[in-house]
Amino acid sequence: MQLHMSSWPEIDAYLKTSKAIIIPIGSTEQHGPIGLLGTDALCPEIIARRAGDEAGFLVGPTFNVGQSQHHMGFAGTITLRPSTMIAAMTDWANSLRRHGFERLYWLNGHGGNVATISAAITSMYHDTTFGEAGANTPPLRCMSRNWWELAGVHELCRQLFPVGEGSHATPSEISITRYAFPDVEKRADISPKIAPVGPIFDADDFRRRYPDGRIGSDPTQASPEAGEKLVTKAVRALINEFQAFAAA
Ligand SMILES: [Zn+2]
Repeated sequence: MQLHMSSWPEIDAYLKTSKAIIIPIGSTEQHGPIGLLGTDALCPEIIARRAGDEAGFLVGPTFNVGQSQHHMGFAGTITLRPSTMIAAMTDWANSLRRHGFERLYWLNGHGGNVATISAAITSMYHDTTFGEAGANTPPLRCMSRNWWELAGVHELCRQLFPVGEGSHATPSEISITRYAFPDVEKRADISPKIAPVGPIFDADDFRRRYPDGRIGSDPTQASPEAGEKLVTKAVRALINEFQAFAAA
């Protein structure tokens, strides 16, 4: 069940059975020469929607622009400043909370978002403490999880791609989009086969260090078959974890 594909009476009815929702969250940023700009938003969306369909829980619209300043040297990347993202996430949460949602599970697809998501959740709890202490309002609880940290998924990534998984534009994440969109396949001559590794600072420095946008990866290994295995593993783990979170 997806919030944006539902009517308000359907959401009203859902709230009588559950106060919990999953919100996929990611970014719109370059993913090397053959990865989609939407990869980090699409991966959690694909996993969350399938889990929601299988287990009957609600999936919110995807928060699809995040912390991508270091990718701004590549065309098409869109970024929020941390303060903008914290404000926007807080408005999403307050909107859902007003309707009665009490458990927000943010399924994240972008490592660069982690610190800001954490700050946003802290900020939401500040709002409760400062604004409504003693008002007997329902408690808001959030959790965030990176999809590759769902139980068993990281191990499966390593098993599928023992060499060249890397940390950006990875064959694992590109496999997931290839599985979900089998007709979309980008091709390019990639050199070197495995991209360099190193630190991340500003956008111009990033482009000099990582000329085609990849970090440590060989995404030409990606395949729809690998993507299906990863999604299946992630969906199982997400259903278990979300159900426990919703019930807590
Ligand atoms: Zn990514």
